[in-house]
Amino acid sequence: MIAFYDYQRRHPQAKADLLRIIRERGASAEFILKTASAELEEALCRGTGAAHAVCVSSATSAMMLAMKALGIGPGDEVVTPAFSYIASASAVAMVGATPVFADVDEASFTLDPAALAARLGARSKAVVAVHLCSALADMPALRRQMPKGLALVEDSATSFGAKLDGVAAGCLGDVGVYSFFPAKPLGGIGDGGAVVSADGALADTVRMLRNHGQDGKTRFTHHLLGFNSRMDEINARWLQQGLLGYPLELARKQAIALRYDEGLARLEGRVALQQRNTQDFVPHAYVIRCAERDALAAHLLARGIETRVHFSQALPLQPAFAHLGHRPGDFPVAEKLARETLAIPLHAQLSDAEVAQILQAINGFWQ
Ligand SMILES: *Cc1c(COP(=O)(O)O)cnc(C)c1O
Repeated sequence: MIAFYDYQRRHPQAKADLLRIIRERGASAEFILKTASAELEEALCRGTGAAHAVCVSSATSAMMLAMKALGIGPGDEVVTPAFSYIASASAVAMVGATPVFADVDEASFTLDPAALAARLGARSKAVVAVHLCSALADMPALRRQMPKGLALVEDSATSFGAKLDGVAAGCLGDVGVYSFFPAKPLGGIGDGGAVVSADGALADTVRMLRNHGQDGKTRFTHHLLGFNSRMDEINARWLQQGLLGYPLELARKQAIALRYDEGLARLEGRVALQQRNTQDFVPHAYVIRCAERDALAAHLLARGIETRVHFSQALPLQPAFAHLGHRPGDFPVAEKLARETLAIPLHAQLSDAEVAQILQAINGFWQ
């Protein structure tokens, strides 16, 4: 059986590492937003070139705090892609603003600049660009569609380490986020996330919002109404350690993705590959598009290969957004991707033999 994702294989030393971290953080009596979190923030800045990084409790809270810090709230509209994880739209709704969905590009799965242009209006305050699976959104093209004064929020939750023309994902818009959920590229030992920005005032506001509006100096003075979106020190240490092995892990995943590209090219017409606009990509998921998606998934499972359908429903058609009144057919590309996309296993510990076995099984579906 080739598992879609395998924590035991990814972290063979997990038990020893965790016990050491717990002893060390426990002995120093530092549990939340202390030395390790501050050091992780510095490491994130060094690793991405971001001027400011603020560690928080998840990428979902990172998105919400970024929206709040941008002053987005009731009466405002934020354009966000119709094909994504729920957080890139729910964060907008959770600060009281209205998510305005725009369709995505069929080749890259990311926000379509023309669709964005059509959905901008007088109430638009910001745009959420989501980097999805292995591709980065076309940030320059999206920015060109946006009037001055609108914020470009980057949902770079799953693209830590990716670059577009040498600039890190997360630093391409006005504010970016990373997720450290265990299965994400830089995986924590629980939930975690970060906000990155070149804007010091915005980062300071996020810093206060994550800790009930306190400034980190005077306790129990609340400058703003905020949240408890703080990072745990054990997770911060684990993530600092994870950063050390990250480049190697990323290089191996990129090599597997390129091997998949090569091995699936001959299925053109049957299997479509996600188009990436950078060599410096982070293959969080290797997602193929196939009209016979469900039959292919069953075929692979019968051969011991586990796959995933990440987003089986376009976001505007989710029950949680029923009040927006969208109907099937409103977002044809997102709905098509929801029917046709399939993620195949891609993790750094896959052997070359397993990669070959997966390719052979996919090709075998049409033989
Ligand atoms: C996982 C994910 C998030 C949310 O991250 P959490 O840390 O789980 O809150 C947001 N956007 C995208 C695209 C994601 O894949």
